[in-house]
Amino acid sequence: EAKMNGGDQCFVYDPKMYQRVAHRVMMEGDVRTALLEHQFSLALQPQIEANTNRFIGFEALLRWKHPERGMISPDDFIPVLENSEQMIELGYWVVRRCFELVRNFIQLGYSDIKVAINLSANQFLDPNLSPFLTNLLQAYELDAKHFELELTEQTLVEDIDKAIAVMVTLREYGFSFAIDDFGTGYSSLAYLKRMPVDIIKIDKSFVFGMLENNADYQIIMSTIAMVKSLDLKVVAEGVETGAQMRSLEENGCDYFQGYYFAKPVPEDEIIEYIQEQFRHGVWSNTEVYQ
Ligand code: C2E
Ligand code: MG
Ligand code: MG
Ligand code: MG
Repeated sequence: EAKMNGGDQCFVYDPKMYQRVAHRVMMEGDVRTALLEHQFSLALQPQIEANTNRFIGFEALLRWKHPERGMISPDDFIPVLENSEQMIELGYWVVRRCFELVRNFIQLGYSDIKVAINLSANQFLDPNLSPFLTNLLQAYELDAKHFELELTEQTLVEDIDKAIAVMVTLREYGFSFAIDDFGTGYSSLAYLKRMPVDIIKIDKSFVFGMLENNADYQIIMSTIAMVKSLDLKVVAEGVETGAQMRSLEENGCDYFQGYYFAKPVPEDEIIEYIQEQFRHGVWSNTEVYQ
C-alpha cells in the first residue's frame, strides 16, 4: 500500500503520478520557450456596473497559443505549473503586460479603466512581489487605483498572517484586493473580517444554475447580504443570461462579469472594444433595456 512518508518518500510506482510529473516537466520547459517566443497573450473580460450598466474595466486572463497543441486553456496549464518557478515568472509577465495596457489606455484618453489581475499563491507569497509592483508603478508612472489583485481563498489560508501583511503593504500603495471564486474554498467569516479586501467575486459555478437550483440561489443571496454588511463590493462572474443579471441586481450585486455581457476580448481587439463602449456611454447590448 502506498504511504506518503513526509511527502517525497513515495516508492510505489504510480503510472498516473509519473505521467503528471512528466507532463509538468514538459510544460515548464515549454513555458520558458513560450515566453521567449511570445506565445502568451491576455484576453480581457469586461466588468459592468449594476444599475448604471457602465463598463468599468476588465479581468486579465492568460492565453497560451502553443505551436503544436493550439490554444491551451489556463485551467489546463496553470494548475500544472502552480508550484514552479515558471509560474512566478509567467505571473510577472502578466502583471507587466497589464501595466502596459493601462498605460496605453491612459495615453488614448481612457484614464478610468480598472484591470483585475489573478495572482497565484506562490506569486502572492513571493517576497519580490511588493517591490516588483511598486517599481512598476514608478516605471510606468501609474496610480495603483487602476489595479485590483485577485487572490483565492486557498492562497489566503496558506499563510494567513503573511497574506494579511502583504495586503496591508500593497493597499498602502493603493492596490485593491478581490477574493476570487468565493464559496468554493475554505471561506470562514472570521477570516473575511480580518482580511483587508475590497471585493468578493462569487464563483460562476453558483451563478450558472442559480435560477433553477434553490441551494445555489440561497448561497448567492446570503453571500451578497453578508458581503454588503461588511461594506465590501460584490462581483458575480459567469453571468450568462439577462434573467440572472436582473435577479442579481435586485438583490444588491454591484458588478457583473460573464458571457451575457462579453466573452474575454483578445488583447489586439481591446482598444476597439473600449472605443465602442465609450461611444455608447453604457454597456452597449440593447437587450439590457428590454
Ligand atoms: P477565474 O479567475 O475565476 O476567471 C474566470 C473564468 O471564468 C475565466 O476562464 C472566464 O473566461 C470564465 N468565464 C467568465 N464568464 C463566463 C461565463 O459567463 N460562462 C463561462 N462558461 N465562463 C465564464 P479562463 O479564462 O479559462 O480562466 C480560468 C482560470 O485560470 C481563471 O479563473 C484563473 O483562476 C486562472 N487564470 C487565468 N489567467 C490567469 C493569470 O494570469 N494568472 C493566474 N494565476 N491565474 C490565471
Ligand atoms: Mg479571477
Ligand atoms: Mg473567479
Ligand atoms: Mg475560477
